[in-house]
Amino acid sequence: MARILLPDAPSVVAGQGRAAIFSAAGELLLLSSAAAADCLRALPPPLLVHAPATCRRLGIRAMPAFDLLELFAFVLPARAAAPTPRGLALALDFDPPVGLEAEAALLPDLAAALLHRLTQAGETALNRDAAGLAARMGQAGWGWAPFVTAALGRPDAAPSGEALRVWKHLPEWEDTGPLPPPASLPVAEAEARSRLAAMLGPDAEQRPGQADYAGAAAAAFAPRESKGDPHLVLAEAGTGTGKTLGYLAPASLWAEKNHGGVWISTFTRHLQRQIDGELARLFPEPSVRRRRVVVRKGRENYLCLLNFEDALTPGRSGPAPATTIPLGLVARWALVTDDGDIQGGDLPGWLSELFGTATILGLADRRGECIHAACPHWRRCFVEHTIRRARTAQLVVANHALVMTQAAWGGLDDSVVPSRYVFDEGHHVFDAADSAFAAELSGRETAEMRRWLLGAEGGRSRARGLQRRIEELVAAHPLLETPLEAALQAARALPAPGWHSRIGTDLPELGGTVAGRANPTEAYLRLIRHQVLARIAQDDSAWGSLECDAFPLGPGVGEAADNLARALSRLAGPIATLRERLLGRLDEEAEDMDTATRNRIEATGRSLNRRVLAPLSAWQNMLRTLAEVEPDPGVRPHQILFLRLDRLEGGREVDIGLHRHWLDPTIPFAATLAVPAQGLLVTSATLRDAGDADPEGAWESAEARIGAPHLPSPAIRAAVASPFDYASQTRAFIVTDVFGGDLAQLAAAYRALFIAAGGGALGLFTAIRRLQAVHARIAPELEAAGIPLFAQHVDAMGNATLVDIFRTEEESCLLGTDAMRDGVDVPGRALRLVVFEKVPWPRPDILHRERRVHLSHGDPKAYDDRIARLRLRQAFGRLIRRATDRGVFVLLDRQTPSRLLSAFPAGVTVRRVGLAEAVRQTRAFLAAAPPA
Ligand code: SF4
Repeated sequence: MARILLPDAPSVVAGQGRAAIFSAAGELLLLSSAAAADCLRALPPPLLVHAPATCRRLGIRAMPAFDLLELFAFVLPARAAAPTPRGLALALDFDPPVGLEAEAALLPDLAAALLHRLTQAGETALNRDAAGLAARMGQAGWGWAPFVTAALGRPDAAPSGEALRVWKHLPEWEDTGPLPPPASLPVAEAEARSRLAAMLGPDAEQRPGQADYAGAAAAAFAPRESKGDPHLVLAEAGTGTGKTLGYLAPASLWAEKNHGGVWISTFTRHLQRQIDGELARLFPEPSVRRRRVVVRKGRENYLCLLNFEDALTPGRSGPAPATTIPLGLVARWALVTDDGDIQGGDLPGWLSELFGTATILGLADRRGECIHAACPHWRRCFVEHTIRRARTAQLVVANHALVMTQAAWGGLDDSVVPSRYVFDEGHHVFDAADSAFAAELSGRETAEMRRWLLGAEGGRSRARGLQRRIEELVAAHPLLETPLEAALQAARALPAPGWHSRIGTDLPELGGTVAGRANPTEAYLRLIRHQVLARIAQDDSAWGSLECDAFPLGPGVGEAADNLARALSRLAGPIATLRERLLGRLDEEAEDMDTATRNRIEATGRSLNRRVLAPLSAWQNMLRTLAEVEPDPGVRPHQILFLRLDRLEGGREVDIGLHRHWLDPTIPFAATLAVPAQGLLVTSATLRDAGDADPEGAWESAEARIGAPHLPSPAIRAAVASPFDYASQTRAFIVTDVFGGDLAQLAAAYRALFIAAGGGALGLFTAIRRLQAVHARIAPELEAAGIPLFAQHVDAMGNATLVDIFRTEEESCLLGTDAMRDGVDVPGRALRLVVFEKVPWPRPDILHRERRVHLSHGDPKAYDDRIARLRLRQAFGRLIRRATDRGVFVLLDRQTPSRLLSAFPAGVTVRRVGLAEAVRQTRAFLAAAPPA
């Protein structure tokens, strides 16, 4: 008989500097954090939401507790909820509580509601083994176990590991034959408009700009007229245009008419999910949507069932107790997940915060160690499922990094390269290409290659080396065994485990020697580290990315680079031979070879190329460049070489390396992706710099940032203005009497503005240290004013979780750095004030130094201005997401040049005022009733 039992426990909710405790006897206490921590020591483990964040706020390390998030993840796997009492309340259809006391008092009700759902669970596939699983997790110390088994009506359930063996219950994928190429029928402008109207439905609000945009976007889907000459449409759609549905209209129509697929690429994983959400409107029936739309990410994002099985069996008696609980929760999720995506998919991001990133994300194939068809779970593998679904989908939602890597490799996992693309968030194409086409000869990358080849040397890691991964393929083939052995021997020239500590010392001997010689990679890394430390301007306590030019070479660097280049070629030779002979088996044994072995050999060939041969080739090339004549500073380089030492706050060094970037990364973008494509739509709310007095110049610089000048035909331009009335919906101020160098003044300004807005404020910083210092100064006072403050680099939560909370908690404020500026999409009241600490100038690093000289057409200052204006425009765009939103934008940098102010949309008047006036006007504007 199912019964709802609850722990006889108090509830605690921690704010900044204070906490509410609701005792099991029904008494409510509001205490300082320290007093609450003391009080809890004398009480049984409490109910709470998000144990790590609660403990951090209480100033204690950890404590046993009943975390409602764990119960939520068990009862409602793959369901989203912001990890706060309010977030859970909303997810469970409760009225959201207001204030710490109300939140604490609600926690027992939330727990009861979750357990009640279990009593209703029935014999579904999800819940068949749930009681045995809960009991198994209870053995490992899961406090919720007896309450869950009671709610399931099986209080005496025996612990069972059956539900952990989740792969047994997943469906198998089915292969299809090769698909014929798509047809080339165009999408007429009128057709795109009609499709949009059908998608919106008869009752939708009329947005003429959206229809114009959809019509213009259709030009990207016209049939190509000459090889190597794709149709490129550059379409700027002001915020509020409804651009996602605007481009989905022609894209979906083209896919249907031509039986082909359109790849929609956006910048972040979070935005991929957002687009997927919009597609629900196009395909409301879930089974149809699943067939036609696929969210595609790199394989390192998906649960690897073999890693999961490995995690379950480290010792004879199963997983360590500490990991049984998260593995149990992941097993529940794996049964109902949409696609097995554990990073930004439907697995709640806060599970990593509760149990550690390594525990959760380590379940993905992050190191490329997949053994493909040799894997016992291959036919149920989430990655393989997704790859196959993407082949036949009409719309594939991907990200810029993935599509660029895919194009550069001529396909990743299955040699499929799309011919039609939509690049949403097109203003990020330059930066995404910069990363995708860069190369890095660093300690981390080289050590990673050694690990991929040799496996984990010593330690208890599960990493398999190449030999173990391909042993069945090379066994009994001496022609394969010989190069494999030679390669594994040569791989010892790469950094051995513990390289960090050795290269940072001045000891004469290095570890990881090869045949008694010093390890050539470690020798090289040690010398370039010495060069960086000798050349940087910062003092010894500096942290972050410390850079210096590769030239002129430091003492001994040339010789060390030469030695390293030779060592790398001793590795590249046998790997190339191994690959060639392995692929040769496909021909030689064509008649007898089974499909699984064939698949495996093909996959191994791709991995050897991608994981070893291509990086080795890039590294050898970089080392050769060092031996050439030093670049002439007056000559425009194609590529830029520099050294970088990555150091954490506190002085711990994490990496050192030689980096190579394209001066203009849109050159490889155009060559590898755009030129082979048939059509591309590049779109964003902020493609052009509104500050360019010359409209033609504004378009030209927008085109340059996506590589249009490297294509044979000019881009087709389109622009649709935002429908918002910025003059009445917004206010913008530059505060003239706050000296940003004084932390006390800076903190006071943030505090006063946040309180004036009554919360709903995003504070943006250009330096983590200042963010943390401001947070420490203002959090208690905001809390006392009923405004919870969350912060990147302070709270024990990831960025996505913080944004979810910020979106859910309308009175909360959030502090963040660059990633928050571009990643926050918070419509409505929850975001009503943006406060910028400083003008977001480009980071003054070596790459920027070169680009502002060589890509600025002789006007470096204008180049910097354009970047800062585009960033301001982006940030301002976060503020107003709907026609009913109202918001205030404040810049605390009194030195803001007036020439940057054209960044703001037409109608916005930026006023330079003192802090008191900015506070007064912010309060008055946000308190006033919105226009009728
Ligand atoms: S096929 Fe590869 S990614 Fe999939 S479960 Fe097996 S090892 Fe993991």
